[in-house]
Amino acid sequence: MNNQKELIQKCFEAQKEHKFKMRNTDYHYRITKLKKIKKLILEHKSEINVALAADFNKPAIETDLTEIMPVISMINLMEKELSSWMKARKVKAPLLFKGTKSTVKPEGKGNCLIISPWNYPFQLNAYPVLTAFAAGNTCMVKPSEFTPETNAIIKKLFGEVFQEKEVAFFEGEVETSNLLLDLPFDHIFFTGSTQVGSIVMEKAAKNLSSVALELGGKSPCVIDKNTNLEETSRKVIWGKFVNSGQTCVAPDYVLIHEEQKEEFIQECIQRIKEFFPKEDFDKSDDFSYIITQRHADRLFHLVEDAKSKGAKVHYGGELKDRVMYPTLLSELNRDMKIMQEEIFGPLLPIVGLNNLEEMVDYINKFDNALATYVFSSDENFANTIIDQTASGGVTVNDVLVAVGHPLLPFGGAGKSGIGRYHAEYGFEEFSILKPVLRRTMDLGATYFYPPYDESKTKLVKTLLDKVTGFF
Ligand code: NAD
Repeated sequence: MNNQKELIQKCFEAQKEHKFKMRNTDYHYRITKLKKIKKLILEHKSEINVALAADFNKPAIETDLTEIMPVISMINLMEKELSSWMKARKVKAPLLFKGTKSTVKPEGKGNCLIISPWNYPFQLNAYPVLTAFAAGNTCMVKPSEFTPETNAIIKKLFGEVFQEKEVAFFEGEVETSNLLLDLPFDHIFFTGSTQVGSIVMEKAAKNLSSVALELGGKSPCVIDKNTNLEETSRKVIWGKFVNSGQTCVAPDYVLIHEEQKEEFIQECIQRIKEFFPKEDFDKSDDFSYIITQRHADRLFHLVEDAKSKGAKVHYGGELKDRVMYPTLLSELNRDMKIMQEEIFGPLLPIVGLNNLEEMVDYINKFDNALATYVFSSDENFANTIIDQTASGGVTVNDVLVAVGHPLLPFGGAGKSGIGRYHAEYGFEEFSILKPVLRRTMDLGATYFYPPYDESKTKLVKTLLDKVTGFF
Protein backbone atom coordinates (compact mmCIF):
# COMPACT_ATOMS: atom_id res chain seq x y z
CA MET A 1 0.00 0.00 0.00
CA ASN A 2 2.80 2.36 0.92
CA ASN A 3 4.37 1.52 -2.37
CA GLN A 4 1.10 2.32 -4.15
CA LYS A 5 0.83 5.59 -2.24
CA GLU A 6 4.29 6.59 -3.47
CA LEU A 7 3.50 5.53 -7.04
CA ILE A 8 0.27 7.51 -7.00
CA GLN A 9 1.98 10.60 -5.58
CA LYS A 10 4.80 10.34 -8.14
CA CYS A 11 2.37 10.00 -11.02
CA PHE A 12 0.26 12.88 -9.75
CA GLU A 13 3.34 15.14 -9.61
CA ALA A 14 4.37 14.09 -13.13
CA GLN A 15 0.89 14.78 -14.50
CA LYS A 16 0.72 18.10 -12.68
CA GLU A 17 4.00 19.09 -14.24
CA HIS A 18 2.70 18.04 -17.64
CA LYS A 19 -0.75 19.64 -17.50
CA PHE A 20 0.00 22.89 -19.32
CA LYS A 21 1.81 21.03 -22.09
CA MET A 22 -1.14 18.67 -22.39
CA ARG A 23 -3.61 21.54 -22.43
CA ASN A 24 -1.72 23.17 -25.29
CA THR A 25 -1.38 20.08 -27.48
CA ASP A 26 -2.89 20.61 -30.90
CA TYR A 27 -5.61 18.77 -32.77
CA HIS A 28 -3.11 16.73 -34.73
CA TYR A 29 -1.43 15.38 -31.59
CA ARG A 30 -4.71 14.41 -29.97
CA ILE A 31 -6.42 12.90 -33.00
CA THR A 32 -3.35 10.85 -33.92
CA LYS A 33 -3.46 9.16 -30.52
CA LEU A 34 -7.23 8.70 -30.68
CA LYS A 35 -6.92 7.02 -34.08
CA LYS A 36 -4.12 4.82 -32.76
CA ILE A 37 -6.21 3.63 -29.83
CA LYS A 38 -9.16 3.00 -32.15
CA LYS A 39 -6.97 0.81 -34.35
CA LEU A 40 -5.63 -1.09 -31.34
CA ILE A 41 -9.12 -1.65 -29.89
CA LEU A 42 -10.34 -3.07 -33.20
CA GLU A 43 -7.23 -5.23 -33.62
CA HIS A 44 -7.62 -6.61 -30.10
CA LYS A 45 -11.39 -6.93 -30.15
CA SER A 46 -11.38 -10.66 -29.48
CA GLU A 47 -9.07 -10.21 -26.46
CA ILE A 48 -11.52 -7.65 -25.10
CA ASN A 49 -14.37 -10.12 -25.68
CA VAL A 50 -12.46 -12.84 -23.82
CA ALA A 51 -11.63 -10.51 -20.91
CA LEU A 52 -15.26 -9.51 -20.32
CA ALA A 53 -16.38 -13.12 -20.63
CA ALA A 54 -13.75 -14.07 -18.02
CA ASP A 55 -14.87 -11.31 -15.67
CA PHE A 56 -18.61 -12.02 -15.79
CA ASN A 57 -19.55 -14.25 -18.71
CA LYS A 58 -20.53 -11.26 -20.85
CA PRO A 59 -21.60 -12.51 -24.31
CA ALA A 60 -19.22 -11.35 -27.06
CA ILE A 61 -22.01 -9.75 -29.07
CA GLU A 62 -23.07 -7.68 -26.05
CA THR A 63 -19.46 -6.60 -25.53
CA ASP A 64 -19.27 -5.56 -29.18
CA LEU A 65 -22.55 -3.66 -29.10
CA THR A 66 -22.46 -2.07 -25.66
CA GLU A 67 -18.78 -1.67 -24.84
CA ILE A 68 -16.71 -1.42 -28.03
CA MET A 69 -19.16 0.19 -30.45
CA PRO A 70 -19.91 3.31 -28.34
CA VAL A 71 -16.18 3.99 -27.89
CA ILE A 72 -15.42 3.54 -31.59
CA SER A 73 -18.35 5.71 -32.64
CA MET A 74 -17.21 8.42 -30.21
CA ILE A 75 -13.72 8.40 -31.77
CA ASN A 76 -15.29 8.50 -35.24
CA LEU A 77 -17.26 11.58 -34.20
CA MET A 78 -14.11 13.19 -32.82
CA GLU A 79 -12.33 12.60 -36.11
CA LYS A 80 -15.03 14.79 -37.66
CA GLU A 81 -15.68 17.34 -34.94
CA LEU A 82 -12.78 17.63 -32.49
CA SER A 83 -10.94 20.33 -34.40
CA SER A 84 -14.03 22.57 -34.36
CA TRP A 85 -14.76 21.81 -30.69
CA MET A 86 -11.19 22.87 -29.84
CA LYS A 87 -11.46 26.24 -31.59
CA ALA A 88 -12.01 29.42 -29.60
CA ARG A 89 -15.59 30.61 -30.22
CA LYS A 90 -16.00 34.24 -31.34
CA VAL A 91 -18.35 36.44 -29.34
CA LYS A 92 -19.95 39.64 -30.72
CA ALA A 93 -19.20 43.00 -29.10
CA PRO A 94 -22.41 44.79 -27.96
CA LEU A 95 -22.66 48.59 -27.97
CA LEU A 96 -20.96 49.24 -24.65
CA PHE A 97 -18.13 46.88 -25.56
CA LYS A 98 -17.18 48.36 -28.90
CA GLY A 99 -13.41 48.48 -29.09
CA THR A 100 -13.04 44.93 -27.73
CA LYS A 101 -12.71 41.50 -29.30
CA SER A 102 -13.79 38.46 -27.30
CA THR A 103 -13.59 34.72 -27.58
CA VAL A 104 -14.50 31.76 -25.43
CA LYS A 105 -11.56 29.39 -25.40
CA PRO A 106 -12.16 25.78 -24.34
CA GLU A 107 -9.26 24.67 -22.19
CA GLY A 108 -8.59 21.33 -20.52
CA LYS A 109 -9.50 21.45 -16.82
CA GLY A 110 -6.08 20.02 -15.97
CA ASN A 111 -5.33 16.94 -13.88
CA CYS A 112 -8.37 14.68 -13.80
CA LEU A 113 -9.27 11.66 -11.71
CA ILE A 114 -11.59 9.08 -13.23
CA ILE A 115 -13.18 6.43 -11.01
CA SER A 116 -15.18 3.74 -12.77
CA PRO A 117 -17.63 0.94 -11.94
CA TRP A 118 -17.62 -2.71 -13.02
CA ASN A 119 -20.84 -3.03 -15.01
CA TYR A 120 -19.60 -1.82 -18.42
CA PRO A 121 -15.93 -2.00 -17.56
CA PHE A 122 -14.48 -1.38 -20.99
CA GLN A 123 -16.78 1.45 -22.07
CA LEU A 124 -16.95 3.25 -18.73
CA ASN A 125 -13.17 3.50 -18.51
CA ALA A 126 -12.34 4.12 -22.17
CA TYR A 127 -15.09 6.66 -22.90
CA PRO A 128 -14.31 9.22 -20.16
CA VAL A 129 -10.54 8.75 -20.45
CA LEU A 130 -10.57 9.42 -24.19
CA THR A 131 -12.94 12.36 -23.75
CA ALA A 132 -10.69 13.84 -21.06
CA PHE A 133 -7.65 13.39 -23.30
CA ALA A 134 -9.44 14.90 -26.32
CA ALA A 135 -10.22 17.97 -24.23
CA GLY A 136 -6.53 18.35 -23.28
CA ASN A 137 -6.40 16.85 -19.80
CA THR A 138 -4.13 14.40 -18.05
CA CYS A 139 -5.88 11.66 -16.09
CA MET A 140 -5.37 9.08 -13.42
CA VAL A 141 -7.88 6.26 -13.57
CA LYS A 142 -9.17 3.83 -10.98
CA PRO A 143 -11.17 1.05 -12.57
CA SER A 144 -13.32 -1.31 -10.52
CA GLU A 145 -11.62 -4.03 -8.50
CA PHE A 146 -14.18 -6.57 -9.78
CA THR A 147 -13.04 -6.69 -13.42
CA PRO A 148 -9.33 -7.63 -13.35
CA GLU A 149 -9.24 -9.17 -16.84
CA THR A 150 -10.85 -6.17 -18.52
CA ASN A 151 -8.58 -3.82 -16.56
CA ALA A 152 -5.53 -5.74 -17.78
CA ILE A 153 -6.40 -5.41 -21.47
CA ILE A 154 -7.33 -1.74 -21.12
CA LYS A 155 -4.06 -1.00 -19.34
CA LYS A 156 -2.12 -2.85 -22.01
CA LEU A 157 -3.76 -1.08 -24.96
CA PHE A 158 -3.77 2.40 -23.41
CA GLY A 159 -0.16 1.90 -22.28
CA GLU A 160 0.84 1.47 -25.92
CA VAL A 161 -0.60 4.86 -26.87
CA PHE A 162 -0.39 7.16 -23.85
CA GLN A 163 2.53 8.13 -21.68
CA GLU A 164 2.06 7.76 -17.92
CA LYS A 165 2.10 11.51 -17.56
CA GLU A 166 -0.96 11.61 -19.85
CA VAL A 167 -3.02 8.61 -18.73
CA ALA A 168 -2.24 6.22 -15.87
CA PHE A 169 -4.26 3.39 -14.31
CA PHE A 170 -4.24 2.42 -10.64
CA GLU A 171 -6.06 -0.74 -9.70
CA GLY A 172 -7.32 -1.44 -6.21
CA GLU A 173 -10.23 -1.20 -3.83
CA VAL A 174 -11.56 1.60 -1.66
CA GLU A 175 -8.10 2.27 -0.17
CA THR A 176 -6.78 3.07 -3.64
CA SER A 177 -9.75 5.36 -4.32
CA ASN A 178 -9.05 7.13 -1.05
CA LEU A 179 -5.36 7.65 -1.81
CA LEU A 180 -6.39 9.25 -5.09
CA LEU A 181 -9.26 11.26 -3.62
CA ASP A 182 -6.89 12.85 -1.11
CA LEU A 183 -5.03 14.57 -3.96
CA PRO A 184 -5.97 18.02 -5.26
CA PHE A 185 -7.21 17.07 -8.73
CA ASP A 186 -8.64 19.81 -10.92
CA HIS A 187 -11.61 17.61 -11.85
CA ILE A 188 -13.05 14.29 -10.71
CA PHE A 189 -15.23 12.22 -13.00
CA PHE A 190 -16.94 9.49 -11.00
CA THR A 191 -19.25 6.78 -12.30
CA GLY A 192 -20.87 4.53 -9.71
CA SER A 193 -23.48 4.36 -7.02
CA THR A 194 -25.27 7.35 -5.49
CA GLN A 195 -23.94 6.43 -2.02
CA VAL A 196 -20.29 6.44 -3.11
CA GLY A 197 -20.95 9.52 -5.29
CA SER A 198 -21.78 11.45 -2.18
CA ILE A 199 -18.52 10.28 -0.49
CA VAL A 200 -16.58 11.35 -3.58
CA MET A 201 -18.20 14.79 -3.57
CA GLU A 202 -17.41 15.28 0.10
CA LYS A 203 -13.76 14.43 -0.48
CA ALA A 204 -13.61 16.61 -3.60
CA ALA A 205 -14.93 19.53 -1.55
CA LYS A 206 -11.79 19.48 0.61
CA ASN A 207 -9.68 20.34 -2.44
CA LEU A 208 -12.43 22.24 -4.25
CA SER A 209 -12.05 19.84 -7.17
CA SER A 210 -14.97 20.11 -9.58
CA VAL A 211 -16.97 16.90 -9.98
CA ALA A 212 -19.03 15.08 -12.52
CA LEU A 213 -21.04 12.31 -10.89
CA GLU A 214 -22.59 9.68 -13.14
CA LEU A 215 -24.82 7.76 -10.73
CA GLY A 216 -27.80 5.43 -10.69
CA GLY A 217 -31.38 5.38 -9.50
CA LYS A 218 -34.70 3.67 -10.03
CA SER A 219 -35.56 4.20 -13.71
CA PRO A 220 -39.30 3.78 -14.32
CA CYS A 221 -40.88 2.28 -17.42
CA VAL A 222 -44.44 3.49 -17.92
CA ILE A 223 -46.77 1.65 -20.27
CA ASP A 224 -49.93 3.29 -21.58
CA LYS A 225 -53.15 1.45 -22.45
CA ASN A 226 -52.93 1.84 -26.20
CA THR A 227 -49.56 0.08 -26.66
CA ASN A 228 -48.86 -3.18 -28.42
CA LEU A 229 -47.90 -5.32 -25.44
CA GLU A 230 -46.02 -7.94 -27.45
CA GLU A 231 -43.74 -5.34 -29.05
CA THR A 232 -43.34 -3.42 -25.79
CA SER A 233 -42.47 -6.55 -23.79
CA ARG A 234 -39.76 -7.39 -26.36
CA LYS A 235 -38.06 -4.04 -25.77
CA VAL A 236 -38.53 -4.03 -22.00
CA ILE A 237 -37.26 -7.59 -21.56
CA TRP A 238 -34.20 -6.88 -23.71
CA GLY A 239 -33.46 -3.62 -21.88
CA LYS A 240 -33.90 -5.23 -18.48
CA PHE A 241 -31.94 -8.44 -19.04
CA VAL A 242 -29.03 -7.31 -21.24
CA ASN A 243 -25.90 -7.50 -19.02
CA SER A 244 -28.22 -9.38 -16.58
CA GLY A 245 -29.86 -6.13 -15.59
CA GLN A 246 -26.56 -4.64 -14.40
CA THR A 247 -27.12 -1.49 -16.42
CA CYS A 248 -27.42 1.97 -14.89
CA VAL A 249 -30.21 2.89 -17.33
CA ALA A 250 -32.06 -0.46 -17.25
CA PRO A 251 -35.79 -0.10 -16.63
CA ASP A 252 -35.90 -0.68 -12.87
CA TYR A 253 -39.67 -1.28 -12.59
CA VAL A 254 -42.75 -1.17 -14.81
CA LEU A 255 -45.90 0.84 -14.20
CA ILE A 256 -48.91 -0.38 -16.19
CA HIS A 257 -52.67 -0.01 -16.05
CA GLU A 258 -53.98 -2.60 -13.62
CA GLU A 259 -56.29 -4.22 -16.18
CA GLN A 260 -53.38 -4.90 -18.55
CA LYS A 261 -50.92 -6.12 -15.97
CA GLU A 262 -51.63 -9.84 -16.27
CA GLU A 263 -51.50 -9.80 -20.07
CA PHE A 264 -48.19 -7.91 -19.99
CA ILE A 265 -46.71 -10.40 -17.51
CA GLN A 266 -47.68 -13.28 -19.82
CA GLU A 267 -46.08 -11.48 -22.80
CA CYS A 268 -42.90 -10.96 -20.74
CA ILE A 269 -42.75 -14.66 -19.85
CA GLN A 270 -43.06 -15.53 -23.55
CA ARG A 271 -40.26 -13.10 -24.48
CA ILE A 272 -37.91 -14.52 -21.81
CA LYS A 273 -38.53 -18.02 -23.21
CA GLU A 274 -37.88 -16.80 -26.77
CA PHE A 275 -34.69 -14.91 -25.89
CA PHE A 276 -33.26 -17.66 -23.70
CA PRO A 277 -34.58 -20.96 -25.03
CA LYS A 278 -32.49 -23.07 -22.65
CA GLU A 279 -34.20 -22.96 -19.28
CA ASP A 280 -30.97 -23.52 -17.36
CA PHE A 281 -29.69 -19.95 -17.40
CA ASP A 282 -26.62 -20.94 -15.44
CA LYS A 283 -25.38 -22.79 -18.52
CA SER A 284 -26.29 -20.08 -21.02
CA ASP A 285 -23.63 -18.18 -22.92
CA ASP A 286 -26.19 -15.46 -23.66
CA PHE A 287 -26.66 -14.41 -20.05
CA SER A 288 -24.04 -12.56 -17.99
CA TYR A 289 -23.12 -13.60 -14.48
CA ILE A 290 -23.73 -11.27 -11.57
CA ILE A 291 -20.40 -9.64 -10.91
CA THR A 292 -19.69 -11.31 -7.53
CA GLN A 293 -21.40 -13.82 -5.25
CA ARG A 294 -22.07 -11.00 -2.77
CA HIS A 295 -23.92 -8.98 -5.40
CA ALA A 296 -25.84 -12.12 -6.50
CA ASP A 297 -26.86 -12.88 -2.89
CA ARG A 298 -28.13 -9.31 -2.50
CA LEU A 299 -30.44 -9.81 -5.50
CA PHE A 300 -31.71 -13.14 -4.20
CA HIS A 301 -32.46 -11.52 -0.85
CA LEU A 302 -34.40 -8.74 -2.59
CA VAL A 303 -36.69 -11.43 -4.04
CA GLU A 304 -36.97 -13.30 -0.73
CA ASP A 305 -37.73 -10.06 1.13
CA ALA A 306 -40.43 -9.13 -1.41
CA LYS A 307 -41.96 -12.63 -1.25
CA SER A 308 -42.06 -12.54 2.55
CA LYS A 309 -44.01 -9.26 2.33
CA GLY A 310 -46.60 -10.55 -0.13
CA ALA A 311 -45.05 -10.21 -3.61
CA LYS A 312 -45.90 -12.80 -6.25
CA VAL A 313 -43.07 -14.28 -8.35
CA HIS A 314 -44.35 -15.09 -11.85
CA TYR A 315 -41.08 -16.31 -13.30
CA GLY A 316 -37.55 -17.06 -12.06
CA GLY A 317 -36.55 -16.24 -8.52
CA GLU A 318 -33.74 -18.80 -8.46
CA LEU A 319 -30.07 -18.20 -7.86
CA LYS A 320 -27.39 -20.68 -8.95
CA ASP A 321 -23.88 -19.55 -8.00
CA ARG A 322 -23.52 -16.16 -9.72
CA VAL A 323 -26.50 -16.62 -12.03
CA MET A 324 -29.67 -14.86 -10.95
CA TYR A 325 -32.54 -16.08 -13.11
CA PRO A 326 -34.68 -13.48 -14.93
CA THR A 327 -37.40 -12.78 -12.42
CA LEU A 328 -40.82 -11.17 -12.83
CA LEU A 329 -42.71 -9.99 -9.77
CA SER A 330 -46.03 -8.29 -8.99
CA GLU A 331 -48.17 -7.42 -5.94
CA LEU A 332 -45.50 -5.03 -4.69
CA ASN A 333 -45.44 -2.37 -2.04
CA ARG A 334 -42.99 0.23 -0.82
CA ASP A 335 -42.09 -1.67 2.34
CA MET A 336 -40.21 -4.13 0.16
CA LYS A 337 -36.50 -3.45 -0.36
CA ILE A 338 -36.93 -4.14 -4.06
CA MET A 339 -39.16 -1.04 -4.23
CA GLN A 340 -36.74 1.09 -2.23
CA GLU A 341 -33.25 0.62 -3.70
CA GLU A 342 -31.88 0.50 -7.25
CA ILE A 343 -32.23 -3.15 -8.29
CA PHE A 344 -29.27 -3.41 -10.68
CA GLY A 345 -29.96 -7.02 -11.61
CA PRO A 346 -32.39 -9.20 -13.59
CA LEU A 347 -35.46 -8.65 -11.42
CA LEU A 348 -38.45 -6.83 -12.91
CA PRO A 349 -41.23 -5.61 -10.60
CA ILE A 350 -44.48 -4.91 -12.47
CA VAL A 351 -46.82 -2.53 -10.68
CA GLY A 352 -50.48 -2.10 -11.68
CA LEU A 353 -52.02 1.37 -11.25
CA ASN A 354 -55.28 2.99 -12.28
CA ASN A 355 -54.37 6.12 -14.22
CA LEU A 356 -51.68 8.50 -15.42
CA GLU A 357 -51.96 10.68 -12.33
CA GLU A 358 -51.21 7.73 -10.05
CA MET A 359 -48.24 6.85 -12.25
CA VAL A 360 -46.74 10.34 -12.04
CA ASP A 361 -47.29 10.33 -8.30
CA TYR A 362 -45.68 6.90 -7.94
CA ILE A 363 -42.54 8.00 -9.83
CA ASN A 364 -42.22 11.27 -7.94
CA LYS A 365 -42.11 9.53 -4.57
CA PHE A 366 -38.65 8.24 -5.58
CA ASP A 367 -35.47 10.31 -5.98
CA ASN A 368 -34.79 11.44 -9.54
CA ALA A 369 -34.18 8.54 -11.90
CA LEU A 370 -31.31 8.33 -14.37
CA ALA A 371 -33.66 7.44 -17.25
CA THR A 372 -37.41 7.34 -17.77
CA TYR A 373 -39.15 5.20 -20.37
CA VAL A 374 -42.66 5.74 -21.71
CA PHE A 375 -44.53 3.51 -24.11
CA SER A 376 -47.52 5.28 -25.61
CA SER A 377 -48.91 6.46 -28.92
CA ASP A 378 -50.64 9.33 -27.13
CA GLU A 379 -48.42 12.40 -27.19
CA ASN A 380 -50.21 13.97 -24.21
CA PHE A 381 -49.58 10.89 -22.12
CA ALA A 382 -45.86 10.88 -22.99
CA ASN A 383 -45.56 14.64 -22.50
CA THR A 384 -47.17 14.44 -19.07
CA ILE A 385 -44.48 11.97 -17.97
CA ILE A 386 -41.74 14.11 -19.59
CA ASP A 387 -43.00 17.36 -18.04
CA GLN A 388 -44.11 16.20 -14.60
CA THR A 389 -41.30 13.89 -13.55
CA ALA A 390 -37.54 14.49 -13.19
CA SER A 391 -34.75 12.29 -14.52
CA GLY A 392 -31.52 12.42 -16.52
CA GLY A 393 -33.37 11.74 -19.79
CA VAL A 394 -36.54 10.31 -21.31
CA THR A 395 -37.00 7.78 -24.10
CA VAL A 396 -40.41 7.28 -25.68
CA ASN A 397 -41.35 3.90 -27.17
CA ASP A 398 -37.96 2.31 -26.61
CA VAL A 399 -35.44 1.56 -23.88
CA LEU A 400 -31.67 2.14 -23.41
CA VAL A 401 -31.00 3.47 -26.92
CA ALA A 402 -30.58 7.12 -25.86
CA VAL A 403 -27.37 6.30 -23.98
CA GLY A 404 -25.90 4.92 -27.22
CA HIS A 405 -26.89 7.93 -29.35
CA PRO A 406 -23.54 9.54 -30.10
CA LEU A 407 -24.89 13.09 -30.31
CA LEU A 408 -27.08 13.22 -27.20
CA PRO A 409 -25.82 14.34 -23.79
CA PHE A 410 -25.84 11.70 -21.08
CA GLY A 411 -26.03 12.21 -17.33
CA GLY A 412 -28.34 12.32 -14.35
CA ALA A 413 -30.38 14.90 -12.48
CA GLY A 414 -30.02 15.48 -8.76
CA LYS A 415 -29.43 12.17 -6.99
CA SER A 416 -28.86 10.34 -10.28
CA GLY A 417 -25.95 12.59 -11.17
CA ILE A 418 -24.28 15.89 -11.78
CA GLY A 419 -22.77 16.82 -15.14
CA ARG A 420 -23.13 15.54 -18.68
CA TYR A 421 -20.93 13.75 -21.15
CA HIS A 422 -20.95 12.20 -24.64
CA ALA A 423 -20.29 14.16 -27.84
CA GLU A 424 -19.48 17.86 -27.45
CA TYR A 425 -21.11 17.80 -24.00
CA GLY A 426 -18.35 15.47 -22.83
CA PHE A 427 -15.67 17.67 -24.34
CA GLU A 428 -17.18 20.60 -22.43
CA GLU A 429 -17.50 18.60 -19.21
CA PHE A 430 -13.72 18.23 -19.28
CA SER A 431 -13.11 21.85 -20.38
CA ILE A 432 -13.13 25.26 -18.84
CA LEU A 433 -14.81 27.68 -21.20
CA LYS A 434 -12.39 30.52 -20.67
CA PRO A 435 -13.51 33.97 -21.81
CA VAL A 436 -10.68 36.01 -23.30
CA LEU A 437 -11.46 39.72 -23.91
CA ARG A 438 -8.95 41.86 -25.76
CA ARG A 439 -9.28 45.66 -25.83
CA THR A 440 -8.34 46.79 -29.29
CA MET A 441 -9.40 50.44 -29.15
CA ASP A 442 -10.05 52.82 -26.25
CA LEU A 443 -13.43 54.46 -26.86
CA GLY A 444 -13.61 56.47 -23.69
CA ALA A 445 -14.83 54.01 -21.07
CA THR A 446 -12.16 55.36 -18.72
CA TYR A 447 -14.23 58.55 -18.59
CA PHE A 448 -16.38 56.80 -15.94
CA TYR A 449 -13.51 56.19 -13.50
CA PRO A 450 -13.56 58.19 -10.21
CA PRO A 451 -13.81 60.89 -9.07
CA TYR A 452 -17.56 60.70 -9.75
CA ASP A 453 -18.49 64.31 -10.47
CA GLU A 454 -21.93 65.59 -11.44
CA SER A 455 -21.46 65.37 -15.21
CA LYS A 456 -20.55 61.67 -15.02
CA THR A 457 -23.49 60.96 -12.74
CA LYS A 458 -25.83 62.75 -15.20
CA LEU A 459 -24.47 60.84 -18.18
CA VAL A 460 -24.91 57.47 -16.46
CA LYS A 461 -28.49 58.47 -15.54
CA THR A 462 -29.20 59.45 -19.16
CA LEU A 463 -27.81 56.14 -20.37
CA LEU A 464 -30.03 54.21 -17.94
CA ASP A 465 -33.14 56.33 -18.61
CA LYS A 466 -32.98 56.97 -22.34
CA VAL A 467 -30.96 54.26 -23.99
CA THR A 468 -33.34 51.33 -23.96
CA GLY A 469 -32.66 47.95 -25.51
CA PHE A 470 -28.88 47.99 -25.17
CA PHE A 471 -26.98 45.31 -23.32
P1 NAD B 1 -19.64 1.75 -6.64
O1 NAD B 1 -20.10 3.12 -6.33
O2 NAD B 1 -19.70 0.72 -5.59
O3 NAD B 1 -18.13 1.78 -7.15
C1 NAD B 1 -17.67 2.62 -8.18
C2 NAD B 1 -16.19 2.87 -8.02
O4 NAD B 1 -15.97 3.52 -6.77
C3 NAD B 1 -15.34 1.61 -8.00
O5 NAD B 1 -14.13 1.85 -8.68
C4 NAD B 1 -15.08 1.38 -6.51
O6 NAD B 1 -13.87 0.74 -6.24
C5 NAD B 1 -15.05 2.79 -5.97
N1 NAD B 1 -15.53 2.86 -4.56
C6 NAD B 1 -16.38 2.02 -3.93
N2 NAD B 1 -16.61 2.42 -2.67
C7 NAD B 1 -15.87 3.55 -2.50
C8 NAD B 1 -15.68 4.44 -1.39
N3 NAD B 1 -16.28 4.24 -0.23
N4 NAD B 1 -14.86 5.50 -1.57
C9 NAD B 1 -14.25 5.71 -2.76
N5 NAD B 1 -14.38 4.90 -3.82
C10 NAD B 1 -15.18 3.83 -3.70
O7 NAD B 1 -20.47 1.32 -7.93
P2 NAD B 1 -20.44 -0.06 -8.69
O8 NAD B 1 -21.07 -1.10 -7.82
O9 NAD B 1 -19.10 -0.33 -9.24
O10 NAD B 1 -21.41 0.28 -9.92
C11 NAD B 1 -22.80 0.23 -9.81
C12 NAD B 1 -23.43 1.60 -9.67
O11 NAD B 1 -22.94 2.47 -10.65
C13 NAD B 1 -24.93 1.57 -9.87
O12 NAD B 1 -25.55 2.40 -8.92
C14 NAD B 1 -25.12 2.15 -11.27
O13 NAD B 1 -26.38 2.73 -11.49
C15 NAD B 1 -24.01 3.12 -11.34
N6 NAD B 1 -23.62 3.40 -12.71
C16 NAD B 1 -23.90 4.61 -13.25
C17 NAD B 1 -23.59 4.86 -14.57
C18 NAD B 1 -23.87 6.20 -15.22
O14 NAD B 1 -23.31 6.45 -16.28
N7 NAD B 1 -24.69 7.05 -14.64
C19 NAD B 1 -22.96 3.89 -15.33
C20 NAD B 1 -22.70 2.67 -14.74
C21 NAD B 1 -23.03 2.42 -13.43
